[in-house]
Amino acid sequence: MEKKRRNLILAVTVLLTVGFLSISLVSYYAARESLHEQVSESTLPLTSDNIYSEIQRDLVRPIFLSSLMAVDTFVRDWVLEGENDEKRMIHYLTAIQQRYGAVTSYFVSEKTRRYYHTSGIIKTVHENDPQDKWFFRVRSMKEDYEINIDRDTANLTSLTVFINYRVYGPSGEFIGATGVGLALKAVKALIDDYERRYGRQIFFIDRDGGVTLHGERYQGFLNIHDRPGIKKIAAKILAFPGGAFSYDLDGKKFFVNSRFVPEFKWFLLVEQAGDMNGKRILNTLWFNILIACAVTGVVLFLTILTVRAYQRQLEDTISRDKLTGALSRQVFDGVLDQAMKVAKREDGLLSLAMLDIDHFKDVNDTHGHLAGDAVLRTVVENVRGAIRETDALCRWGGEEFLLMFDRCDIGQARDLAEKIRTAIERSSVVFSGTPITVTVSLGIAQFVPGETERDFVNRVDKALFAAKRGGRNQVQAAP
Ligand code: GH3
Ligand code: MG
Ligand code: MG
Repeated sequence: MEKKRRNLILAVTVLLTVGFLSISLVSYYAARESLHEQVSESTLPLTSDNIYSEIQRDLVRPIFLSSLMAVDTFVRDWVLEGENDEKRMIHYLTAIQQRYGAVTSYFVSEKTRRYYHTSGIIKTVHENDPQDKWFFRVRSMKEDYEINIDRDTANLTSLTVFINYRVYGPSGEFIGATGVGLALKAVKALIDDYERRYGRQIFFIDRDGGVTLHGERYQGFLNIHDRPGIKKIAAKILAFPGGAFSYDLDGKKFFVNSRFVPEFKWFLLVEQAGDMNGKRILNTLWFNILIACAVTGVVLFLTILTVRAYQRQLEDTISRDKLTGALSRQVFDGVLDQAMKVAKREDGLLSLAMLDIDHFKDVNDTHGHLAGDAVLRTVVENVRGAIRETDALCRWGGEEFLLMFDRCDIGQARDLAEKIRTAIERSSVVFSGTPITVTVSLGIAQFVPGETERDFVNRVDKALFAAKRGGRNQVQAAP
């Protein structure tokens, strides 16, 4: 019984735990999956598109401007006409700079190597001057333009993003380099502004993975081949003109959206941790588990209570007589056996009484079976009123009861038996308006250490028989 109960409780616990846990985990992973999907398939690409179009607007405009300068007939004609009247060129550069809000604008002539700037001719460029290296690079490059982050020759304190354009003569010969510059700080502020607005990390890399431009908050290595996590997918990013990628770092998932910006020949990377909302989902998981634990606890508690109540009821049903509530023979046997062991070990103070209702058949015959039942209950009530907690009462047979008087010798047993007999004699049951009175006969015996339970009961049975033979409504003790 105990084992079955334990098994039931174990089964309920396992069932509820497994059930709740699997539901919680499945919904957690489903939520996480859909969050990742959302990030990688819609949120990030959308942000990336927005940033890209803003960058185009903000950064591509100077490229366009530089390209216009490179094909401007004024520039070309002025150079071909011998660079006379430098003021006209300075005036032109100033107009461009003011009109389009650039930090600087310049023209360097191939023929004279003069560096024209809004403030005049600053210098003549030289092949062995490290500051002028850019010009000689542009001079020999195949592409029409390059983007270069460098110190401004006109203002050495600030880093500038230059768009250097080649200017061609009528037969396609290189006649100089022109362009505008943007303050790097301004560009970085732009990126910072995007990062703040979109809550993502934004940076540019060149074709080798080198980080060319980033915001103030950028942390980590200046080449994605060296940066933990992303280096695993660096080759993949650089192999495609654009795409959505992800990598794991320290148990967290990161999403990267890449896009090749042809004007810069750089990749625009927008990066986001996939767990931005993951904490909320994780909290939900913990909350679910907490609820599951609470529910499991409550269900277990109720199960234990129910099983206990059911078990007690069952035990009661087996151990007690339904009509009178007296102990069953089976249970009484155990109680008596225990009491006999104690009495044998100690002082032998234990007595039994066998009670039988006199002429009970007549009660049934005269007043009916239900009246007989009522009489049986009243008799038991009277017996209960006379005996103590430690005594036991057992329905031995039809209208026969066996009583155990704990720690009583034969004299005390006789007193008790007499008390019971007179109480019953004086009481009556009113059934259907008719009072019914019965008497009882009792046999009593004191335990003789060494005798068996059967002998003990036999002796008290014989005493009862003597009481019946002696004329009923009396107490007889076994010799
Ligand atoms: P006596 O003991 O004085 O010799 O006479 P008696 O009439 O009591 O004799 P007996 O022991 O033969 O009769 C017992 C009767 O008790 C027989 C049976 O119908 C009745 N009886 C036994 N159990 C129940 C019960 O649960 N309810 C009712 N109403 N009657 C019962
Ligand atoms: Mg009888
Ligand atoms: Mg009888």
